[in-house]
Amino acid sequence: MHDTIVVGGGIMGCTVALHLARAGQRVLLLEKGGLCMQASGVNAGTLSIQIKRAALIPYALRGWELWRDARDWLGSDAGFHQTGGLSLAFTDEEAAMLTERMEARKRNGAPVEMIGANRAHELEPGLSDKPVLASWCALDGYASSNELGNSLRGALARAGVQVREFTALDGLEREDGQYVARSAAGLQRARRVVLAGGVWLETLLRRDFGIAIPLTCRVNQVSVTERLPPILHRVLGVATGLLSLKQSRNGTVIIGGGWQGKGDAERGGTEVIPENLVGNLRLASYAIPALREARVVRTWLGVEGSTQDEMPIVGALPGAPEAYVIGGVRGGFTIGPFMGKLLAQHMLGQEPEMPIFDPARAIVPTSAAA
Ligand SMILES: Cc1cc2nc3c(=O)[nH]c(=O)nc-3n(C[C@H](O)[C@H](O)[C@H](O)COP(=O)(O)OP(=O)(O)OC[C@H]3O[C@@H](n4cnc5c(N)ncnc54)[C@H](O)[C@@H]3O)c2cc1C
Repeated sequence: MHDTIVVGGGIMGCTVALHLARAGQRVLLLEKGGLCMQASGVNAGTLSIQIKRAALIPYALRGWELWRDARDWLGSDAGFHQTGGLSLAFTDEEAAMLTERMEARKRNGAPVEMIGANRAHELEPGLSDKPVLASWCALDGYASSNELGNSLRGALARAGVQVREFTALDGLEREDGQYVARSAAGLQRARRVVLAGGVWLETLLRRDFGIAIPLTCRVNQVSVTERLPPILHRVLGVATGLLSLKQSRNGTVIIGGGWQGKGDAERGGTEVIPENLVGNLRLASYAIPALREARVVRTWLGVEGSTQDEMPIVGALPGAPEAYVIGGVRGGFTIGPFMGKLLAQHMLGQEPEMPIFDPARAIVPTSAAA
């Protein structure tokens, strides 16, 4: 018998499990693959405050602090690197858009300043002559998403969480005031359950609770170049949000920005769309001309789920006793560790440090979602 069964071993599920276990709870985590093998382990690793939605800036700042202090709670720095970041505008129209978006983010606490093209070149000498305006955030940086699963596996083991990898939740029933989870590991009982299934949350909620929360499946593309001499020192983005660019310490450049590939929640990312790959690489070399000479060694796709209002769902499931959900967080690599902490605080009967995000608002009648 466990206190809580957590379903899904991405950044959300693992951090909730960690905080619950550290508070003395007996926690079982079921993950259908390996820890952080989906969105949480294949993302571009950008920890950028300035590109987050204005309403989520206070959460992103707390998420960023947790990354900075990762050694304390994770036992590893997870490749955290604070480089500072620039968002670039290439036209007057983009400059107006960037200014407006950054004003809203500044009002919510983002430490961002607008700077001219000359100052942007001082901060990033490899920039092309195309930017007309930029925003600068000294906090921006990145961490290594592909290290996260290993780091979390160690932290969860030390906290006493029972982790079952390659063990999908096949079904969930309620019996005698407890949840009974069915998986290849047999039947497991717990007082509470947390669904942290990423883009698969929609299926889990419908199958096990008859609740419909539609999630749009985004199939994001990321590319990595060969190792290059230092050509880039900051994390770069653009006003439209269609670029994320950074050079890792090993010299490779990671190119992302949410360009879409083919795929869906059931099959994952299946195919790169050639024009989207070319568009992403063109935009990257438009910002940093040295990239024109770089060879891309790999492009991959990862899937994430976003709610209709693109805001997180973090909290108790209405009408389902002791059942909780966490997901739908855009930019969830940055914010995820804090969201996990908030849900754990709520479940432990503490006042969460910041308001959580009631899933009830995202529920639609089952017939409407069918
Ligand atoms: C390609 C890409 C690039 C991104 N880049 C960035 C970025 O640079 N910066 C940033 O901040 N954010 C980024 N994001 C967003 C971020 O990665 C996600 O918001 C975050 O990782 C979501 O975490 P999660 O735990 O909710 O989901 P996931 O990491 O997808 O974890 C959900 C887990 O649930 C498991 N699961 C599902 N069904 C079951 C079941 N029946 N039984 C057991 N387990 C189950 C899955 O196997 C999966 O491991 C990116 C996302 C993608 C896809």
